[in-house]
Amino acid sequence: MTTELYLENSYLKECESQIESVDGNLVILEQTIFYPGGGGQPCDKGFIKQGNTIYEVVKVTKKDGKIIHVLDRPLKETSPVTLQIDWSWRYQNMRYHTLLHVISGYLYQHYNGLATSSQIEKDHSRLEITFSAEIIDKIPFEQLEQSIKELLKQSYTVSTKIITKEEAEQKEGIIKTTVSLLPPSLKKIRIVQIQGIDEQACGGTHVHNTSEIGDFSIIKIQNKGATKRRIKLQLN
Ligand SMILES: [Zn+2]
Repeated sequence: MTTELYLENSYLKECESQIESVDGNLVILEQTIFYPGGGGQPCDKGFIKQGNTIYEVVKVTKKDGKIIHVLDRPLKETSPVTLQIDWSWRYQNMRYHTLLHVISGYLYQHYNGLATSSQIEKDHSRLEITFSAEIIDKIPFEQLEQSIKELLKQSYTVSTKIITKEEAEQKEGIIKTTVSLLPPSLKKIRIVQIQGIDEQACGGTHVHNTSEIGDFSIIKIQNKGATKRRIKLQLN
């Protein structure tokens, strides 16, 4: 198991680590600040430094609890390394990802909408939400951007905690539709809370406070079938 430092502190930009194993340009470390991607949030990129040699981290994935750093070329030695993430890329993803929590939390609270997928791209992000057939035509989507901006005029703390799977299953709404999809072997679940707005299971990286999200625009809202809408948005 690689220790995932970004789960404890998503603001770490640099750390040291011992190497656990190397297979050509694939490197597994004892601990890492590189987010391997998941939940619609892209993986981190950045650099690994060994002595005076700098390797680019071109991709990061997770397999069987281990985080695999894909380097631009084979790593020759196994001495300790210094890790550095591309912070502007990560921070933008943290802002997008937290904004997606706010919007999906708002639509869940007000219209019982359930997020079915989300994806963060380089310059925009999209979120798909399903609603019941009775309510979907009554939702004022044209006012959504304004409503979220009103909400975000106040700042809200974003926090995480670890609970057991049993606790999560007992709390209605916390896992929304996904509880049956969680593998039975999973004993602990990480919950992300945005005070009064959203509470759900998530393994992603978030900003500490919604004030860090900054200005944004909803570019487009598309119909994706009778009960599903796709919201496309952009940070300004
Ligand atoms: Zn999240």
